[in-house]
Amino acid sequence: MRQTQTQTSCTTFNYKHLNSYRSHYYYSIKFPTMLTNTEISFLNHQKIPLDLVFDVKGLSKKEYQKQMRKMGAILAIGATPCKAYGHTVRTRAGHCAQCDTSRIAYILRNDSPAYIYVGYSPSCKLHKIGSSTSPSSRMKTLNGLGYANTSDWKLIHKVKVARAGEKELKIHQLLKSYQYETSYMRDGEHVNCREIFIASIDFIMDTVKYVCAIK
Ligand SMILES: [Zn+2]
Repeated sequence: MRQTQTQTSCTTFNYKHLNSYRSHYYYSIKFPTMLTNTEISFLNHQKIPLDLVFDVKGLSKKEYQKQMRKMGAILAIGATPCKAYGHTVRTRAGHCAQCDTSRIAYILRNDSPAYIYVGYSPSCKLHKIGSSTSPSSRMKTLNGLGYANTSDWKLIHKVKVARAGEKELKIHQLLKSYQYETSYMRDGEHVNCREIFIASIDFIMDTVKYVCAIK
């Protein structure tokens, strides 16, 4: 376990935020791009797992497509407004996701086998739960980004499932009371982290194993 300078920033986390999220559905969290109520209800309605949404504020299309592919995200928030209605939620390909929701349905219908993973940061005692076809390289990406202000993410669990997006969504729903909001700096911009949870390892693992065992 690497005890780096990240320990300092971890201790500055403001735990009071945790309670304010307990009564909210998980998409009610504050995105740095300040989503409108329409956008929040759109994301809620579409039931897109948090891991599949990526904040692209301040990034060029080429750059955000690269990062979204790396992170396995399918929807971009904070993108340039669409010409028709000024929507700011886009698919990775750059299409307006709000003008044509069939694109999302298509992506979700094609929900594919992947790993549900649990990453853990020993220095910050944070869990990250997501889905990826390569959890170990996902950990490298997170550490490279200093995701959630820590770079000691390690893979503590992975399980291959047939419909990873669906399982991930279910896990995030069950753990929504334990979701923790934090952010990190990326290219000079504050970027909020989503799918981060604070709970005992046993509780996290029980939830993940329970959901993944459901047929
Ligand atoms: Zn649009």
